[in-house]
Amino acid sequence: MQHVKCLIIGSGPAGYTAAIYASRANLQPILYEGPQAGGQLTTTTEVENFPGYPDGVEPFQMMDDMRKQAERFGAEIRSGIVTRVDFSLSPKHVWVEDTEELTADTVIIATGASAKYLGLPSEKEYKGKGVSACATCDGFFYRRKTVAVVGGGDTACEEALYLSGLCLKVYLIVRKPYLRASEIMQKRVREAENIEILFEHNTLQLTGEGKVQGADLIYRKGEADESLRHIDIDGFFLAIGHHPNSDIFKEYIATDEQGYIITRPGTPLTNVAGVFAAGDVADPHYRQAITAAASGCKAAIEAEKYLKTL
Ligand code: NDP
Repeated sequence: MQHVKCLIIGSGPAGYTAAIYASRANLQPILYEGPQAGGQLTTTTEVENFPGYPDGVEPFQMMDDMRKQAERFGAEIRSGIVTRVDFSLSPKHVWVEDTEELTADTVIIATGASAKYLGLPSEKEYKGKGVSACATCDGFFYRRKTVAVVGGGDTACEEALYLSGLCLKVYLIVRKPYLRASEIMQKRVREAENIEILFEHNTLQLTGEGKVQGADLIYRKGEADESLRHIDIDGFFLAIGHHPNSDIFKEYIATDEQGYIITRPGTPLTNVAGVFAAGDVADPHYRQAITAAASGCKAAIEAEKYLKTL
C-alpha cells in the first residue's frame, strides 16, 4: 500500500494551488483529479476576474497552467475518484474507485461543489435530452435554437449570455422579481437583445416527445394574479447554485446543514487533525477561483506545519 505525506483530493483552483505549495515544500503531494479534471471552473466560458489576466483567460488554459505549475515542483497528478476514506486511523486511509488503497499523513479536501437541480421528475427524464447544467459543455448543440436558463445569480446570467451568442432566443427564468447577480452581469443580460427575463416564474414541468420541446411555467405562484404559461424551448439549463461534494467525508468531518465542511474561521483546519478543507467544499459565501486558490495555499501551509508535529 502506498503511503504519502500529503494527499490532495480535487483539481480545481484550491487543489492545484495546494499542490503547488505542498510540492514546493517538498511534501511530494499526490493529487487525485476527481470526476471533473480542472473542477467546476472548466464549465464556465471565460475567467475575467482572476488577477494577472488583464484580457481574461480561457478556463481550461488557466487550469492547465496551474496543473503544469504544480507538476514543475514534483506534484503527481493522477486521474481517479476518491470514493471512501477512513479518518479514524492514523495515518488516514483513502480508497480510489473503491479498490486502490493509500495511506496519508495529511489530506487536503478540495472536492468543490456540484450543480443543483430543481428536483422535477421531468428533469431526470430529459437529462442529456435537452436538460443540462453546463452551457459551455452543451450550448453548442443548441445553435440557432431556443433555450431557457433557470436562476437569477451570476452563474445564470453567465450561462444566459453564453447561450445568447449561440441561440436564437434565451429565456431567463427567475423566481424572484429581481436578479441577484452582480451589477455588471445584470447589465449585460438586460442589454442582450435575444434574452427575455421571465421574473417571478417557476418551472412546473418540462414537456416533449423523447426530448425537451417546452416548459410549463407558473407566474406569481400563490398570488391573486397567478397564471400558467407555456414556452417552446429546445434546451433547459439549470443554474440555481451548487451543493458541496462532502458526502464521503461526513462520517468523520463536521459539516453544516447544507453539507459545507466546517473549518476553524480564517483557516482550512477541520475537526480532524491533519485533514484540511479548501475551496468551495468549505465555502458557502465567496465561491470564487481566487478565494479557492487562497484557501488551497493555506491548507498546504497547514499540512506542512502539521507534518512537523508527527
Ligand atoms: P447563487 O446562489 O448566487 O444564485 C442561485 C440562483 O438560483 C438565485 O437566483 C436563486 O434564486 C436561484 N434558485 C435557487 N434555487 C432555485 C429553485 N429551486 N428554483 C428557482 N430558482 C432557484 O448561485 P450562483 O451559482 O449563481 O453563484 C454562486 C457564487 O459564485 C456567487 O457568489 C456568484 O457571485 C459567484 N459567481 C461568480 C461569477 C463571476 O464573477 N464571473 C460567475 C459565476 C458565479 P433566489 O435569488 O430567489 O434565491
